[in-house]
Amino acid sequence: MTDRRTILKASLLAPALLARPASAATAAKGDIQMKLPCVVSTWPFGVAANKAAWAILSKGGRALDAVEAGVKIPEADLRNHTVGRAGYPDRDGHVTLDASIMDEHGNAGSVAAMEYIAHPISVARAVMEKTPHVMLAGEGATKFAIEQGFKREELLTPESKKAWQEWLKTAKYSPQANIETKSYGLGTPGGAKNHDTIGMLAIDAKGNLSGACTTSGMAWKVRGRVGDSPIIGAGLYVDNDIGGATSTGVGEEVMRSVGSFLVVELMRQGRSPQEACKEAVERILKKKPDAKMEQVGYLAINKKGEVGAWAIQKGFSYSLCDQTSQDRIVPGQAFFAATPGN
Ligand code: ASP
Repeated sequence: MTDRRTILKASLLAPALLARPASAATAAKGDIQMKLPCVVSTWPFGVAANKAAWAILSKGGRALDAVEAGVKIPEADLRNHTVGRAGYPDRDGHVTLDASIMDEHGNAGSVAAMEYIAHPISVARAVMEKTPHVMLAGEGATKFAIEQGFKREELLTPESKKAWQEWLKTAKYSPQANIETKSYGLGTPGGAKNHDTIGMLAIDAKGNLSGACTTSGMAWKVRGRVGDSPIIGAGLYVDNDIGGATSTGVGEEVMRSVGSFLVVELMRQGRSPQEACKEAVERILKKKPDAKMEQVGYLAINKKGEVGAWAIQKGFSYSLCDQTSQDRIVPGQAFFAATPGN
């Protein structure tokens, strides 16, 4: 596991590392240089997801296949209440899932507020590959998934149902954007946070980029609420010429600023991934200073395999995997200390 001090030390040592292969050096401006192929994803639960992606990338597989296989791990993890099966439900007790995927050709697919299907990322891929559309929502998305052979299942587990019933006792049925029951410690698998997303970005051996993003969204949300994760350009954006970006945190802030598209466009203009993520977070805070009480984190990679991230508050972390290291967790830089609960 890599802590902040290790990273700081690595960046101070950067000149000394220049004699080593580029892949082993720390990139300039706080970014981390990955060796290609590589995969990066949000949060410590990204470690297990990255491993599944790496099984494909390390054999010369396509980045698109890698990100789909990767994010299916937290989607299936019953300890994870923020992604896929066992995700916390909306305030009416329904588990509704959001997911999006993008390939190296700029193709995109997504599903929003979809119920009863355990792997929304695979449905998003089917939307991309088997329909002329980009996004399917609600009942139509479930119907399409069943037509495609996906199994209809109840996704609300007894544990998630119990947590929802507890919430109902005091919540007065009023949704809140940024309340969390417990924080993830670095390296803690599963956990009990009220919202999070796995956003994953991969570059394969051919140098092609793909990305995937999947979540159950804000716990106890108003029925029908859709977050940033299935919105192309908000929760995820990939441009094979430039790089990719993904987000986690309060989706409404990301949607209002079309965050992941912004990060990629800033990289196009010459910003490093970390600089681009920082500027996209700044954009949110400039328009809405009160957003400092909320959390948004961006993670980005450019075509060279340089990785950067930035968040409103400390506490956001991300997972990195390449030939050198398969289980590296890095704390994200942030503007503010974490508010209690984050
Ligand atoms: N971005 C997600 C949403 O708003 C939640 C999260 O990542 O924390 O649905």
